[in-house]
Formats: sequence, C-alpha cells, structure tokens
Amino acid sequence: MKVIEVEHLHKRYGDDIAVHDVSFSVGEGEVFGILGPNGAGKTTTVECLSGLRPADGGRVRVLGLDPRSERAAVRRQLGVQLQESGLPDRLRVREALELFASFHADPADIPELLDRLGLSDKSAARHKSLSGGQKQRLAIALAVVGRPRVVVLDELTTGLDPHARRATWDLVEQIRDQGATVVLVTHFMEEAERLCDRVALIDAGRIVAVDTPAGLAGRAGQEQRMRFRPSAPLDEAELRALPEVTTLARHGGQVELTGTGDLVGAVTSLLARRRIIAADLRVDQATLDDAFVALTGGAHQTGRADDAR
Ligand code: ATP
Repeated sequence: MKVIEVEHLHKRYGDDIAVHDVSFSVGEGEVFGILGPNGAGKTTTVECLSGLRPADGGRVRVLGLDPRSERAAVRRQLGVQLQESGLPDRLRVREALELFASFHADPADIPELLDRLGLSDKSAARHKSLSGGQKQRLAIALAVVGRPRVVVLDELTTGLDPHARRATWDLVEQIRDQGATVVLVTHFMEEAERLCDRVALIDAGRIVAVDTPAGLAGRAGQEQRMRFRPSAPLDEAELRALPEVTTLARHGGQVELTGTGDLVGAVTSLLARRRIIAADLRVDQATLDDAFVALTGGAHQTGRADDAR
C-alpha cells in the first residue's frame, strides 16, 4: 500500500519556483529520505505533503487523504517535526507533550519518550529555557508522541551532539519497527545510509534520482581507488595493462590505483602471483556523498560560470 503519493508537485513563492515537478511514493513501513542541496525544495515538499502549505499544482495523498481538504483526518495520523515549533515560551516540556498526546487515542509513554531523548531532567523546564539541541529533541518528541502512522521529520538531527544523534536514530528505528512510515529530510549521508530504505535526491526543485542509498552511491559512476605499499618492487606496466586499471600513480613507496569493475580482485590476484604483499591496503568505494556531489553538481557549476562572467 502506498502511504504517501506525491505526483507532479509544483510550488512557487511569487516568481520563484521552489518545486518544479516532484513525484514519488512511499510504501507502508518505509523510511524514505529526501536529500538535496540547500534551497533544493525539500522543506517545501514536506510542508506540502504535511498540509502545512498549499501546493500550486500536482496531487498529494497521505493515507489516501488530501492533506489540505481533509486536514483534520490526516492530522490524527500524521506527526510532523517542525523546524520552528511556535510553542509558547512559558509552556513546560511535559505540558507540551501532554497537550500533543491528548489529541491522540493511543499516545506514547511520555516519561519513556523523555528518557529516550535525554530530556527527563528537563521535564519541568519552560520551552524558552531549552538549548537549541533540546528544543530540537522536544520537536521530535512532539512529532512522535501521538504514535502516528506517518512521521515527517525535517532535519532530524541538525544541531544535535553525537550522543543525541545516535539516540534519535534509535528512536526512528523503534518507530519504524512499530510499523510507522517515516519521511525524513536530511543533510547527513551517514543518517540516510543508516536509516533510509530509499532516498529521493532533489536538486533545484526536481527529483534527480530515487533509489536505495547503496543504489544511489553506485550511480555516481565514481571510480574505485586503492592504495598500498608493495612489499617488493612491482612491474608497473603489468599493472597498467590490467583492464580494470585506469590510472597508476606513485607517492613515495605507496602505489595508488584507480579503476573500475573488480579492481581490487584483479590487482590483488596479480600481486599474489608475483608474491608481493599489499601492505597498508586501503580501498575507497563510491559513497552516497559522491553520488550527492556528482548528481547535484549542475546548479552550482552554473552558478560559478555565471559568477565568472
Ligand atoms: P535547505 O536544505 O537549505 O533547508 P530546502 O531544500 O529545504 O533547503 P526550501 O526551504 O524548500 O529548500 O526552499 C526552496 C526555495 O524556496 C528556496 O529558494 C527558498 O529561498 C524558497 N523559499 C522557501 N520558503 C519560502 C518562503 N516562505 N517565501 C519565499 N521563498 C521561500
């Protein structure tokens, strides 16, 4: 079942088109990531799908419902982590959670949620007294306290310290294990790789790719790179002749090779035949980071060219 359907979403702010044409769907129980450079239209997309902003064109459905015209029904099943919470300064952490929980039939256990997010000792603190990271954690707690079927998280862990980030990832995994569907906007490739079943890469208001994190990394077309120190002199010409090898360079006693296909297998088996050991062997695979840079480079390159003129 498709829990979220976004078809040809279009949104403009005055003359600026923030979202040109974005389409994707998210299946039940999936963790779906939205990645892209600053200003790509990620927040606008999730605001439209949460019903917080009207779209100018296209169709959005959440659990088969229109998030604008059937807003009340959607709200009961959708939790949204807002970047600006708009909470009154004087509201206490626990009061905010109790308020949000009261809108839902089967809310989460508030003390447990506070504990998970490291906010137990802030339970009686007023919203205005919280640090940036604590406000962020409260916003996450508010999004999930109603145990919604769909959770939208925008820059989930931005501004969080490494402990809080890991605790937040565990929380998202717990929510997913309970069957919820999660959409998360993120700038952290590590976060996308760890949490997301699939990711959409958005650039300048358009979808560039939708794939698994590993599939996307593979699309970067990035060459593999390996470095090692040979234990004995090696025949460079023989290595260069391997079809998998594209370049060979020497840095002191270190050999650096780039190439494609099973580069590592081809090189190590040749070295083994020559009884050479590849010491300090390091292999760099294409990562989601590489894919991000390779697939979303266009807008920045155009920008630079314009600047140069
Ligand atoms: P970031 O990674 O920086 O958070 P984003 O991908 O979430 O970026 P959006 O916030 O959706 O991007 O913004 C997309 C475009 O729309 C940007 O050019 C932005 O300046 C513009 N924009 C966003 N919100 C508004 C608004 N309320 N009024 C006018 N323009 C806006």
